[in-house]
Amino acid sequence: LHDKFEAEHDLPAVTKDGEHISLLLNAGLDLNTEQINAKLCDGVGLYRTEAWFMQKGQFPSQKEQEEWYREVLTRHHPDPVVMRTLDIGGDKVLDYFDIQEDNPFLGWRGIRVSLDHPELFLDQLKAMLKANAGLGNLRIMLPMVSHTEEVEEALALLEQAYFELQEEWADQFYDLERPEIGVMLEVPSSVFLLPEWAEKVDFCSVGSNDLTQYLLAVDRANAKVAELFDPYHPSVLRVLAKIAKDCQKFELPFSLCGELGGEPEGAILLVAMGYRRLSMNFSSLNKVKWVLRRLQVVDMENLLEACLAQSSAKQVHRLLKQFMIEQQ
Ligand code: PEP
Ligand code: MG
Repeated sequence: LHDKFEAEHDLPAVTKDGEHISLLLNAGLDLNTEQINAKLCDGVGLYRTEAWFMQKGQFPSQKEQEEWYREVLTRHHPDPVVMRTLDIGGDKVLDYFDIQEDNPFLGWRGIRVSLDHPELFLDQLKAMLKANAGLGNLRIMLPMVSHTEEVEEALALLEQAYFELQEEWADQFYDLERPEIGVMLEVPSSVFLLPEWAEKVDFCSVGSNDLTQYLLAVDRANAKVAELFDPYHPSVLRVLAKIAKDCQKFELPFSLCGELGGEPEGAILLVAMGYRRLSMNFSSLNKVKWVLRRLQVVDMENLLEACLAQSSAKQVHRLLKQFMIEQQ
């Protein structure tokens, strides 16, 4: 089965009726796939920087980070690489940074930690900006934002990092750029602030793993409730469709980088909603491309319409299963 998908790996991800879908890579977690042929995707839609931090015995220095980021940016150049700032807390812990909480998924996570430790955040931002000098394919993304102030504070710190570096490099010929900056939409509150955030940031990307967890109040890592964790729940689908609509309305470029985009059924529904950029694990790329190349957008839209009208995840799964069988 794998060969069937691989046979089309160098063909473009275009639907049967000619709609181009950008397929991007989720990277950082599996260091073994870092060396893969960057040509298989249109860039990196999510680079999880915390994965590398988790392998260290202490916070890596700014210099060490700069070298690492430069290697990643160079590997994919000129394709874009969306680097997410440190997203620790929740299920991601650093041995050298103690976080003890009763409810870690509702606690000190992602941007909250970075803003409480501006010295760490500035170090990371500066390392990214330096690594990007002369390359220009870096995009920066903020995880777990839920309040407008967090976006504003993070933007202010990015400006600070930029100006401090400019001063540091005043007598050198480095080519410092202001990269595009985006937010992850993974906390339900963020979805309703899109009209305002669209004026502040350059793009957004849906983290459907956490968004599902928080919409359904189901711990994504708890086996006991694993069956309830379902991104095909009609409420999740309706929110994902709303995000696409609002982003189009407010002209904010959008993508999705949760696991859902790497599943054929998920990719089909997302394309029907209007998503044209999907970021996924390496192992999903060829499969999703293969499926999308065989479908017309209008057929996906009809399926989506039927799914959005359901009242339970079970019914959605039934429709999806039937659709997939009909396509064979
Ligand atoms: C997500 O939450 O969907 C996401 C992509 O981020 P992570 O899985 O790293 O939390
Ligand atoms: Mg997340």
